[in-house]
This record gives sequence, structure tokens and C-alpha cells, in this order.
Amino acid sequence: MRRKIVAGNWKMHGSRAENAALVETIVASVTSERTTCVICPPFIYLHETWRQLRGGAVALGAQDLCAEALGAHTGEVSAAMLKDVGCEYVLVGHSERRALYGEDSPLVARKFAAAHSKGLTPVLCLGEQLAEREAGRTHSIVGAQIDAVVQLCGIQSFAQAVVAYEPVWAIGTGRTATPDQAQETHAFIRQRLACEDAKIAAGLRILYGGSVKAGNARDIFVMPDVDGGLIGGASLKADEFIAIFAAADSLAVSG
Ligand code: PEP
Repeated sequence: MRRKIVAGNWKMHGSRAENAALVETIVASVTSERTTCVICPPFIYLHETWRQLRGGAVALGAQDLCAEALGAHTGEVSAAMLKDVGCEYVLVGHSERRALYGEDSPLVARKFAAAHSKGLTPVLCLGEQLAEREAGRTHSIVGAQIDAVVQLCGIQSFAQAVVAYEPVWAIGTGRTATPDQAQETHAFIRQRLACEDAKIAAGLRILYGGSVKAGNARDIFVMPDVDGGLIGGASLKADEFIAIFAAADSLAVSG
């Protein structure tokens, strides 16, 4: 069985003091090791956050990274730097990066490879726009996003990776995919990867992201191909995030 995972991505919000307070509350409340908890603060707070985590049950992740290993890339942050400040995970291809910063699937695949090369676990974000869903194109869009990574990095790279299915129309909108919609697309993603390697696909953790709240988390996480959640807005409220984590943990298996 796959361990559940709940990851918080609080984007470009908060101040240094607010970040520290949020982390402190999460660290004090998340003690279960049956379920993986990852928090992804802004770059600028990563090292300070790592100190607060004190090697406990909460892991550190970043929201993005540079596809290049090092050099003249002003303003960018490399995989090696993330590793150096204590990160274990990094989001790649979040829909806001794709939509607002022009990141296409080939670039996302290079970021995935860069993360992998330094031993970080990439959290590969996939998802379709509302118009694409309404046109019945969800599978072709999400399938192409996965294929770009498989082509560059190989299926073996998914043995150390997490996938997050995040329908763009559900991110930050309050409109959540139904548990059945999430399950259907998660099963498609797993099946697509199973064509390459059934064992890796069966072990891959696929998170759902898009307006997950304490009130709807359990209904989504209980679906057989949903292995937890990537949480945006609700991760800024410690109580809400902790309740979402508890929902996943209540469904979790040890090991
Ligand atoms: C996200 O940004 O990845 C996300 C899922 O946001 P929200 O939970 O706010 O929809």
C-alpha cells in the first residue's frame, strides 16, 4: 500500500513572522509518521523553516527550481541549493508557473530532471484548463504533460517522484473536482504510466490539488487512486491544514 502524503504550498504569501508562526503550529501538531507531511514555503524562508522542523515528522519542499545546474542565471535557485538548505521535495510545473511564467512541458521535464539529479523528490503538477475539460480533452492534455517527462527522464525516474493532479479550474477557485472526477483522472495517470512500468505506476503517489479543505478532504482522499493532497490556500491556515493532514492520516497505512 502507498503511504498518504499531504503537501502545503503557501505560494507568495505571508511575512517572515507569519511563516514562522505557521510552521511552529504545524510542527507541534503533525507528529504521525504514517503519513508524509511536506511544507513548501517561499524560497526566502526555506532555511529558517528547515531549522524549525528540527528533523521531525514534517519535510521541507520548495515551490520551484531552476532547470540549470549552476551559472549565470540571475534570480534563479538550483536543485543543489535547495538540497543544501534542507529541502527533500520540490514542486515542478505548478499551473501558475505554466500559465504566468510560460513554463511549457519540455521545460518542466528539465526541471524534473534537475531535481532528480540532486536527490530531490519532484512533485510533478499536471492539470487541464476548464475549457479543455469541457471539450473532453482532459486525458490528452494530462497525458501529454506526463509523456514529456517520461520521454526526457524515463519511467524509472517516477520511482522517486510524486505526481499532483491539479485541474486548473479548481485551483484557488473554491470549485473542487468531485471525488469521482479526481479518481477517474488519477486512474488514467496511473494507467498511462503502467503501460511503461506496472510496478512503478502501482507505487506512485498521486495527489489531488484544487480547493481541498478540511470539509472535503476525506471524501477525496478515500478514493483508491488518490494518495493525498497538494494544498494551496488552506495551507495558510494552520488549523485547516492540520485538519486536512488528520483526514489523510486517518486513512493511512503504516510502512
Ligand atoms: C495549489 O495552488 O496547488 C492549490 C491546490 O491551491 P488551492 O488549494 O488554493 O486550490
